[in-house]
Amino acid sequence: MYTFELPSGTEVELREMTGAEEELLTNQRLIRTGDAVNQVLKNCIVRLGDNDEPSMKDVLDLLSGDRLFILVKLRQVSLGDEVELELVCPNAACRATNHVAVDLEDLEVTPYGPEREFSFELPGSKRTVRFGYLDGHKEKRLAALKEPSISSAMLIRIIDIDGKPPNKKLMAEMSMRDRSALRQEMLRVDAGIDTTVETECDSCGARIRTRLEAEPGFLFPGVRL
Ligand SMILES: [Zn+2]
Repeated sequence: MYTFELPSGTEVELREMTGAEEELLTNQRLIRTGDAVNQVLKNCIVRLGDNDEPSMKDVLDLLSGDRLFILVKLRQVSLGDEVELELVCPNAACRATNHVAVDLEDLEVTPYGPEREFSFELPGSKRTVRFGYLDGHKEKRLAALKEPSISSAMLIRIIDIDGKPPNKKLMAEMSMRDRSALRQEMLRVDAGIDTTVETECDSCGARIRTRLEAEPGFLFPGVRL
């Protein structure tokens, strides 16, 4: 068993992934809904704080930064720290494959502070927005959307605006300046593990940006999907 401290400060005990988890993670339908990752987390989390029988609800209650941190740690204990990525250049005239190696032990972890709710005054409209963190329940709702957007990802974190529940119309009417300020504020207080990979194409110099968990090499080294 492997013990880690989550970005939220809770201690977690994990077991390695096995063939059962590999099956889950290759099921495209379960991947799309996010159920694959939730089931893998449920299977492999042996203990969460004092809770030695974590339920699916406990897994969904986890903040998104903790959830991604656990996924990275599961990858490390099951398959090792080194991830070899094959990143295709986004430049249509180039399309070269770039080989990038990432050591998972080097990823930056930002701990969560004690607050779970934040109040922010929008600079333009002077409205007050209360918002919280993303967790497994909210991730599930986002995955169920047909066309997830930056707007829906922000909306799902908002508790209220001037005391009223948010809606799509309010978000659409919000000025660019207010939206951008709110997005910055949400990013500023966010915590977890930074899985951003940024590099330049060896052939043409174009910028390549991705997230580790979106790359096949993260969970399936040596396999072409
Ligand atoms: Zn290129």
